[in-house]
Amino acid sequence: MGFISKLVNMVKGDQPVTAAPSGPTIITRDDHDISRRDISDNALKVLYRLKDAGFQGFLVGGGVRDILLGKQPKDFDIATNAHPEQVHKLFRNSILIGRRFRLVHVRFGREVIEVATFRASHLSSDNSNQAKQSESGMLLRDNVYGTVDDDAMRRDFTINAMYYNINGFTIHDFAGGIEDIAKRSIRMIGDPQARYREDPVRMLRAIRFAAKLDFEIESATAKPMHTLGHLLEPIPAARMFEEVLKLLLSGHGEQTYYLLRDYDLFKCLFPATDAAIENDETPDYQVEEFVVLALRNSDERIAQGKSVTPAYLFAALLWHPLQQRLSQIRNMPPIPAMHQAAQDIILQQVKRTSIPRRFSTPMKEIWDMQLRLPRRHGNKALELVESKRFRAAYDFVLLREASGEGLDNLGQWWTEYQFASSQRREQMTKELGKPAPKKRAPKKPKVNQDG
Ligand code: ATP
Ligand code: MG
Repeated sequence: MGFISKLVNMVKGDQPVTAAPSGPTIITRDDHDISRRDISDNALKVLYRLKDAGFQGFLVGGGVRDILLGKQPKDFDIATNAHPEQVHKLFRNSILIGRRFRLVHVRFGREVIEVATFRASHLSSDNSNQAKQSESGMLLRDNVYGTVDDDAMRRDFTINAMYYNINGFTIHDFAGGIEDIAKRSIRMIGDPQARYREDPVRMLRAIRFAAKLDFEIESATAKPMHTLGHLLEPIPAARMFEEVLKLLLSGHGEQTYYLLRDYDLFKCLFPATDAAIENDETPDYQVEEFVVLALRNSDERIAQGKSVTPAYLFAALLWHPLQQRLSQIRNMPPIPAMHQAAQDIILQQVKRTSIPRRFSTPMKEIWDMQLRLPRRHGNKALELVESKRFRAAYDFVLLREASGEGLDNLGQWWTEYQFASSQRREQMTKELGKPAPKKRAPKKPKVNQDG
């Protein structure tokens, strides 16, 4: 019998488990197979130091969930009854962060262990310094401390509310997470609609976990998602950007995209892209094809351990909106027109997700290069192939062609050129013939007010 189904049988009562009347189901160390070997040394160090100082220390969230699923956790989150200041005092290598949600980051080189103090429901406080809710029910501050039981109830999904206790190595399952792991189900703790109103990003998290774990979103959890997208509007653009990266650049971007579209949430992240997909008039749905290919490409690179960059992804997602904008700009030579369109599209997008400059700059360069790569005459090709954005821009050309854009075999030309001898390169340049005469902007602008 598989480990999870054995656990589920135990939880259902086939074998003895310790369970307080309304408390968690507690699974003893002999009955589960989370071993300290699965947990990073640094997370263990933090857990032990909390315990030795007389505090409770639990591994929680993705750390427990992913180990139970036989996956390597992305990071380790710890929950404790020690207050942030107390945690901070225990670790010299720690910093206090967050206002909306105060917690401690304990740093070990590149690994950061997040330590959060147990939170209670915000309803148990009338002190607005600790908890604050907006008119729509959104949690603006969430710093009311409580017990581990309280803490479990304000986590998002049942599978994220399993706690591994460093004291005794037991798992405390507060909301039926073990059973939902076995059912492969994403289920919200409490009333889904109210929980989405408290924090609309939970809708995105439901999709993220469904795609990442290949789980189903349970129907009551899924239902409100179709109509609550507008709640995402007031979420700060910076938080949305972080969320988008987790959604689309964590190795399951393609599946995540389909789910986002199914729930009508993609348009809340990329309104212009969504509109371009909806209004696509190409015969073979090139716009969506391009987006999907870009995401699949990223997923494959991640699976191969290669790096992916937000700049490339955003360049791809906004490519067709950029083309549409470009088609409205008249009386400007191609490169300035491209710059203008790029600026407009980026300004529009950053209302929803920020795009830090370190990504928007290379993104614009990738777009720019799309105009330059066809101009290969004379010494141009040699300059281009050595320019720093060549690789990304060339990949981008291949992607455009794969999605059905006809570019006169531009990609194939550059594939050959890159690896050709200098003799062959010269010949390839010659075979191009003369450059097409430069198109100039008409001197007398036609009547046109929509620029
Ligand atoms: P991963 O780290 O693999 O993305 P995770 O479940 O660990 O998944 P984190 O964002 O690291 O996700 O959050 C850790 C835990 O904190 C979650 O498992 C969940 O219990 C809780 N949590 C995070 N964000 C929210 C939220 N918006 N609402 C309620 N609980 C949350
Ligand atoms: Mg985590």
